[in-house]
Amino acid sequence: MQTDTHDVVIVGLGPAAYSAALYSARFMLKTLVVGENMGGQLAEAGEVDDYPGLIGVQAQQMIEAFNEHVKKYSVPIVLDRVESIKKEDGEFLLNTQGGSEFRARAVILAVGVERRRLNVPGELEFLGKGVSYCSVCDAPLFKGKRVVVIGGGDSALEGAEILSRYASKVYLVHRRNEFRAQPIYVESVKKKTNVEFVLNSVVKKIEGEKTVNGVVVEERERNAQRKLEVQGVFIEIGFEPPKEFAKKVGVETDPNGYIKVDEWMRTSVKGVFAAGDCTSVWLGFRQVVTAAAQGAVAAHSAFKYVIENKKSLSA
Ligand code: NAP
Ligand code: NAP
Repeated sequence: MQTDTHDVVIVGLGPAAYSAALYSARFMLKTLVVGENMGGQLAEAGEVDDYPGLIGVQAQQMIEAFNEHVKKYSVPIVLDRVESIKKEDGEFLLNTQGGSEFRARAVILAVGVERRRLNVPGELEFLGKGVSYCSVCDAPLFKGKRVVVIGGGDSALEGAEILSRYASKVYLVHRRNEFRAQPIYVESVKKKTNVEFVLNSVVKKIEGEKTVNGVVVEERERNAQRKLEVQGVFIEIGFEPPKEFAKKVGVETDPNGYIKVDEWMRTSVKGVFAAGDCTSVWLGFRQVVTAAAQGAVAAHSAFKYVIENKKSLSA
């Protein structure tokens, strides 16, 4: 399907993309959003209580509000995956998995990140049969059961907190003795009587028959192994950047594979901007509010780029 040229096409559908869409529309740019999964990581979140002004809002409600807000400015949203972006006659040509083609004067990449795998035996074999990457989504399925959460960041601690409300027992396995999670989450989990911390330990394998029945953990200093009898395994060990996508699009990445941007969210390719978790900045502190901030800045930069380019074409 061939369409008119948009001023800006935003790739992604998480908080960074919604924010970029809102600002881009308010800058009166002809804007289109092409994204796969409405809300991005927020679609897997529970309560959000760290976005100023929204006290204890449910993530789903927040996604609805994001949608309403861009709808107010008549920004179209296409639910599809962008497969390639090429420069052609001074414009960008975007092709999607669904077979659509879009043209843009500027592009904002807000494609987020992918979940990191543990890479242990049993992980893929028992995926959906006890193994999950989303505590918030699947916690209610483990009512009265024994589970393990792996990781030491905000996701793992938030996951342990939610799971402690459903499961009879929660083991929190972390490879170090210290947590990278915000203290507020650590303190909250420490108060739970059904959560046991298994620190300085790594998971060696996930065992089961038709479904999970346990994990083998090893205490790192003593090399001592033991089996935790659990029916659920929640892997919350962070995310990987969209390396392959960045390579295909041709934007430079940092040594970890995150899309390199400057303080104005400009990538190495003129006219291509990036925002949110896929970028190289503020690594280690990823929040809805930081993704939204980057989306707003990227839209502002795209606005300046589009206006300057239009001026130079008409001169
Ligand atoms: P993260 O902050 O990268 O933490 C990942 C955790 O998993 C770390 O504790 C890490 O251990 C551990 N880990 C990594 N690879 C491992 C492996 N192969 N085996 C065992 N353990 C491994 O990831 P996250 O917790 O998913 O959070 C991602 C971002 O989202 C963060 O910026 C976070 O602040 C944000 N977030 C925010 C909220 C919120 O504010 N409510 C909620 C969720 C996420 P080490 O500590 O030893 O490296
Ligand atoms: P994101 O939520 O990961 O969103 C990225 C979006 O882009 C997803 O909808 C993804 O779909 C889509 N996408 C990926 N590749 C695509 C492609 N090639 N074409 C079209 N769409 C594509 O990322 P974000 O907007 O940068 O950031 C979200 C922020 O929320 C993060 O900072 C995170 O840490 C934070 N967070 C906070 C909490 C909390 O409780 N406070 C909870 C969760 C997250 P797929 O999912 O299908 O790939």
